[in-house]
Amino acid sequence: MQFTDIERVLVVMAHPDDVDFGAAGTVANLTDAGVEVVYCLVTDGQAGGFDHTIPREEMASIRRQEQTKAAAEVGVTDLRFLGHMDGSVEVDLHLRQDISMVIRQVRPQVVITQMPVRNLASTYGSHPDHIATGEATMCAVYPDARNPFAFPGTSCADLADWSVDEVWITFGVDGDDVVDITAQLERKMRALLCHESQHRDPEALVERVHDWWQGIAATHGLPEGSSAESFRVVDTR
Ligand SMILES: [Zn+2]
Repeated sequence: MQFTDIERVLVVMAHPDDVDFGAAGTVANLTDAGVEVVYCLVTDGQAGGFDHTIPREEMASIRRQEQTKAAAEVGVTDLRFLGHMDGSVEVDLHLRQDISMVIRQVRPQVVITQMPVRNLASTYGSHPDHIATGEATMCAVYPDARNPFAFPGTSCADLADWSVDEVWITFGVDGDDVVDITAQLERKMRALLCHESQHRDPEALVERVHDWWQGIAATHGLPEGSSAESFRVVDTR
C-alpha cells in the first residue's frame, strides 16, 4: 500500500468509533506523512452505549464529542457529520448525494470505508448500517461523484465532479492489503478509548483489541509482536 501521490483521504463510516476500530492506525500513518485526512460520519451513534439514563439526543452530542477527541489523537481535525439515524441507514439517493457532496468538497485520492456486503464470519462487523454505508459510498465514488449530470438542480451538482482513485475497505477479505501500525498502537488505543460512552470494561477491551490487531499482523506474516490493520484495496480509476 503506497502513500505516495496521496494528498487527501476521506474516511466514511457509519458510527463514531468505527474508524478507530478499523483504520485509526493507518490514519495516524497518513497524517504523519503529511496527508490531509477528513472523517465523514453518517450517523451520530444515537443507538449506541449501555446507559439507559442518557437521553438519545444527548448521546448524539456525546458521541460527536468523543469522535472529535479521538480524531485529534491521530491528527484529524476536519469531521463532517451527516446526521442520519443510527440503526436506520439505507442505501438510497439521499445518502448517496450526501456522501457525493463530501467527496466533491474534499476531493480525495483515496476513500476509506466499510464492507458493502455481509461477512458471515463477523456478526458485529456486519452491522446493517456498516453494509449500507459501504455500499452507498461505493455508489458515490462510482458513478455519482464523478458524474457531472448526477443530482441535477441540487447544491451537489453545483460542485465540480471528482474521481476517487482507490477505495480501501476496512477488515477487507479476499486479497487484502495490510498496514503495519505497530508504531501507532498507543495513539490508536487512546483514540479508541475516547469513546467512553461505549466501553463498559475498557481494560478488557484493550486486551481484546491488542490480540485482534496482533492476529491480523501474524496472519500476514509480519514480525512477532507487530500490530496491523487490513484493507481490501479497490481500484476505482
Ligand atoms: Zn459501527
